[in-house]
Amino acid sequence: MGQILDGKALAQTLCEDIKKRADALKAQGVAPKLAVILVGEDPASQLYVRSKGKRAAELGILAEQYTYTATLSEAELLDRIRQLNRDDTVHGILVQLPLPGHLDPDQVIACIDPHKDVDGFHPQNAGALLSGQPGFVPCTPKGVLALVKSTGLPIAGKRCVVVGRSNIVGKPVALLMLKEDATVTICHSRTEGLGAITREADILIAAVGKAGLITADMIKEGAIVIDVGQVRIQGKWQGDVDFGPALEKAAYITPVPGGVGPMTIAMLMDNTVESAQRALQARSQHGSN
Ligand code: NAP
Repeated sequence: MGQILDGKALAQTLCEDIKKRADALKAQGVAPKLAVILVGEDPASQLYVRSKGKRAAELGILAEQYTYTATLSEAELLDRIRQLNRDDTVHGILVQLPLPGHLDPDQVIACIDPHKDVDGFHPQNAGALLSGQPGFVPCTPKGVLALVKSTGLPIAGKRCVVVGRSNIVGKPVALLMLKEDATVTICHSRTEGLGAITREADILIAAVGKAGLITADMIKEGAIVIDVGQVRIQGKWQGDVDFGPALEKAAYITPVPGGVGPMTIAMLMDNTVESAQRALQARSQHGSN
């Protein structure tokens, strides 16, 4: 029987430290501020934005919300982002995805100042992660890595299998695990013999969005299993992993909800405070020149 990796508890511990950093910044005259843009009325997006705002308030981070109807034009959205880019009091800009179909997410993300891109989705930050340069690491992958590390088990040299290859979860999480010296395999919808590959994983990260795709027979005995997937079925959140039977097989496993979700929000706060710290540093360097 494995242990449940409690993302809620770990996020709470991390947030205590983030709050201290936010308080220290405020004492130096910098109030960390996050601008959150929501376009449309998607209930899941509204829920995520509310959760982010609530957590920010708890940590003393200012969270300004810009809410628009789904009829917002791309030009209007880009104008708002440019205004926020210019606003020195704003340290993080987040555009809640998915956007309504007429808005091109690539154009929108590319418009965000990479120094304020606390979601880490801008091509400059994605490139920085790929090439090992400093930049913002996307929040969900950063949260996944923290969960894996919290087990205290080694990562270097271990087999890590990531199921899912999106730009926001699968690819960046695979890069983070590679940076930790894991031997990484990425699977996707065209992968043949998925179970044979996942069964080799010491660390299995599922980021698909298909409830119950990963069954217990696809998990290696004693593996660390991180379930990023979240789908709402009949009013209940479910992950990609068939949790009950998988718990019998894995050494550690994250639940859904209460696993990766709270860690994603904690990492967003972490990135926002990091951005404010960089702004303060830049200001003091500028001042001393
Ligand atoms: P996405 O862009 O839809 O990507 C899903 C990935 O799964 C794709 O790479 C797809 O392959 C792959 N896939 C689909 N069916 C598959 C199958 N049968 N076998 C193997 N791979 C398959 O989704 P995403 O944005 O990465 O998100 C993935 C899940 O994580 C969703 O449930 C989302 O809600 C959740 N999520 C949770 C958090 C959190 O904070 N907890 C944050 C972000 C996302 P192809 O590339 O071949 O299409």
